[in-house]
Amino acid sequence: MEECKRCLLHDVAEEDTLKSIKERIDKLPEQEKAGKELYSKRLNECKNCDNLISGVCMKCGCYVEFRAAFKKQNCPNTKDRKW
Ligand code: SF4
Repeated sequence: MEECKRCLLHDVAEEDTLKSIKERIDKLPEQEKAGKELYSKRLNECKNCDNLISGVCMKCGCYVEFRAAFKKQNCPNTKDRKW
């Protein structure tokens, strides 16, 4: 995969990884999931962040499309938390 700054997996067409993440999100209990609006707001913040490289947050090493799906998670950048 080529490195792509400010790209989600969705943007870099990593379909297998994205599919696996979506399946894992689907299995989460509803009460643990971020709502659609919150999820999309979080991902928009990530897409404007220099720490996002090819779907991975350089602050925590997570796929943001997975991390953002958890209601209780937050942006790991303690100096400039985006969500
Ligand atoms: S630092 Fe925060 S806003 Fe930036 S990519 Fe990571 S989770 Fe997203």
